[in-house]
Amino acid sequence: MNENDMIEAPAQDGVIEMAGLLSLLTNGGGVGFGVKALDGAYRLANQAMEHLLGQAAGQVTGKSESELLPAALLAPLARCDQRILDGVAAASEEIELSVNSQPVRCLWLKLPVLGPDKKLQAIASIIYDKSPANGAARDTLERLQKTNRELQQTVVALEEVASTDKLTGAWNRRRLEECVRQEMGRFRRYQHPLSMLIVDIDSFKAINDRFGHGIGDRVLQALSALLQAGLRGTDSLARWGGEEFVVLCPDTSRATAATIAERLRARTAASRFPDVGQLTISIGVAECQAGEVWDEWFQRADEALYRAKAGGRNQVQLAPASSGPDDAEDSPVANFVQLVWRSAYECGNEEIDRGHRQLFSDANELLSAILSGQSDDQVGAIVDKLLADVGQHFREEEAIFVAAGFPGAAAHKFLHQQLIAQALSMGADYRAGKHAVGDVFQFLAHEVITKHMLGADRLFFDHIRRGAPPGG
Ligand code: GH3
Ligand code: MG
Ligand code: MG
Repeated sequence: MNENDMIEAPAQDGVIEMAGLLSLLTNGGGVGFGVKALDGAYRLANQAMEHLLGQAAGQVTGKSESELLPAALLAPLARCDQRILDGVAAASEEIELSVNSQPVRCLWLKLPVLGPDKKLQAIASIIYDKSPANGAARDTLERLQKTNRELQQTVVALEEVASTDKLTGAWNRRRLEECVRQEMGRFRRYQHPLSMLIVDIDSFKAINDRFGHGIGDRVLQALSALLQAGLRGTDSLARWGGEEFVVLCPDTSRATAATIAERLRARTAASRFPDVGQLTISIGVAECQAGEVWDEWFQRADEALYRAKAGGRNQVQLAPASSGPDDAEDSPVANFVQLVWRSAYECGNEEIDRGHRQLFSDANELLSAILSGQSDDQVGAIVDKLLADVGQHFREEEAIFVAAGFPGAAAHKFLHQQLIAQALSMGADYRAGKHAVGDVFQFLAHEVITKHMLGADRLFFDHIRRGAPPGG
């Protein structure tokens, strides 16, 4: 495999895997990684980048390339930028840096970072020391690939085998994902429109609390039947999780999908459900866009659902329509710097999974705020929210694993306390100007989200999975 393959491999799937990004950010063996905003100033830089540019810790952020590099290197790097601005997926130049007065031949790779609107938001750089002596960088890239492969295998391993949901008889998630793969293949070949709905019951927790779980289950069955009856023969209904359903609508544009969604919403609101009476649902709708992968498409529908909830529930919200054929969304590195949620990260417990998703979304919001150069106050507010959400999530998680009789409960609680203490002092130091925001992001994203959620949490995931009641 040549070096270019190794560099491009982590970004294969349309998005670099979260673990891949984080290991770049957290300074594994010598691959420089940084992100600069469109004003030219770097907003994030890892230690390896600082080292390659001969800068002390924290000295790359805030500076532009002209302040960091000898004049002779500026033209080739500006050429890369221009190509990124022109819409290419990646541009690279071989340059020679001087590190500790030694010449070091590097490949400087630039990648577009696109915002949710698919517009260029920032430019990421990967700087790779090409000298044969630099085994460490090579190892890092290989490790990235390996982590990627392992994560993908976990996805497969964690999927269940049966294809229908026991409680409602709707398809389960695995079956739907199979269908999504087929339909997305058809979409790519024939460009027939393809849309998706995410349906979520409003305030379902309150229904369970008031009437009991058994009646809650019957509501799920009744709603599933109602949704199914409101769909066309070609639409597929699946129970995605707890009280959330996904509908896949082949050959359906955004506008038609919106009509279907509105019909389902109105019928539900007009129905009377056994024991509980009235009930409402919120729906997010998104049409698949050219070049989009499933996670991105799903995320857009999920964001629309979130807006429906935030807007007062009992409503349908649409993800924005495609911005036209001229954008660079075919880029294999679109949304390069985003923490991408994968179903394999889920443990099956609603509350824990919701907490984990929330932390992902907070971290993405923080990243987006850093990259778009928002004010310290705005960034500070997001950091505070993230810290508060970490605290709340840990408390919820502790209550669950204590109740489940998890034998490692005490040790796990201790781990939480340590992380919280670290996180709080990190937040305070940030406020006091002692930490760059990149450090805070790195800590939260790496220590709290990756290492904790995908590492330590796995132990009790297995425990609660074994002990979880069916369908819950
Ligand atoms: P929102 O309007 O924001 O969606 O509020 P909500 O209460 O519906 O959302 P939340 O995600 O807080 O709660 C979902 C609830 O669904 C919590 C969980 O106990 C319940 N639930 C999940 N799966 C099942 C199930 O299989 N049966 C029953 N009865 N309840 C379930
Ligand atoms: Mg709900
Ligand atoms: Mg929900």
